[in-house]
Amino acid sequence: MSKPPIPFNPGRFDGAMIEAFYARGIAANPYRRKREQLFRLLRTKHKENDKAQAVADKLEACVKGSRCLSGACPQCTHAGQKLYAKTAAAFVAKHEGSGHLVCVSIVPADGVCKPKDLDPAYAARNVRRWKERLGRAGVTWLVGALDYSLNEHDTSRYKPHWSEHLYGLTATTDIDGLRKKLSEQFPKTDAIPRPVKVKTWDGDPDALAYMLKPNYWRRVATDDGERFTKNGMRSCRATDKQRLRSKERVRLALYLDELGLHGRLVLRWVQFVNRGATASIEERAPRP
Ligand SMILES: [Zn+2]
Repeated sequence: MSKPPIPFNPGRFDGAMIEAFYARGIAANPYRRKREQLFRLLRTKHKENDKAQAVADKLEACVKGSRCLSGACPQCTHAGQKLYAKTAAAFVAKHEGSGHLVCVSIVPADGVCKPKDLDPAYAARNVRRWKERLGRAGVTWLVGALDYSLNEHDTSRYKPHWSEHLYGLTATTDIDGLRKKLSEQFPKTDAIPRPVKVKTWDGDPDALAYMLKPNYWRRVATDDGERFTKNGMRSCRATDKQRLRSKERVRLALYLDELGLHGRLVLRWVQFVNRGATASIEERAPRP
């Protein structure tokens, strides 16, 4: 008999963020430092912005035993990353026999937006649309998350924009076929020359941790990179990863706070379940 569906509760992921997932001692330092830098930046440069002050209040009050659980908090996001990677590892371990486990990275052309369009309702619409397209490409279950970057071109060939994209794990019996079908659903554009990447998962836990990563970059594209090919050096498009500017960090932080950690999860045919003492990802395939 199939299990009854578990009602959606967005608090479920946050509720599973127990202290055990937080880095301790020296390992916590980089995340604590980033949290402190962020709330100081909000306090000093955005005094007039009530929303910024509310986020700064949360971040400043995030301490052991009383965590802020904000999607903008580097310490809480790092803990969420560990929780998600752990539950994802347990889920994929149960699916080793269901074909090749693959990491899928997708940068949808319609995930591109202006700073003011970074908005949780917009993200929810994007995720709904993208999950439909994943289905059309033959994807069954997917355990993944949204990620963000600020993309620009070094000679301003296109306007700087935010990119909302997704990364996750799924299983397939035909890696090349999946890549081809995903590329049909998520076509390339001038600003996104390689929107789809599908790679066999080699069991590396880092690939699972990458799903809810707590750091974000400015990706600066250039047309005159060089790549070594069997015919010698060839000019190609390259991307340079740089730090976000402070106003970009603030814009993203305000948005991530609004979105919440659970808002970043992209789950197809699976659900995150927190039954108090145990959290897990459970299969929820639609009934035939
Ligand atoms: Zn926090």
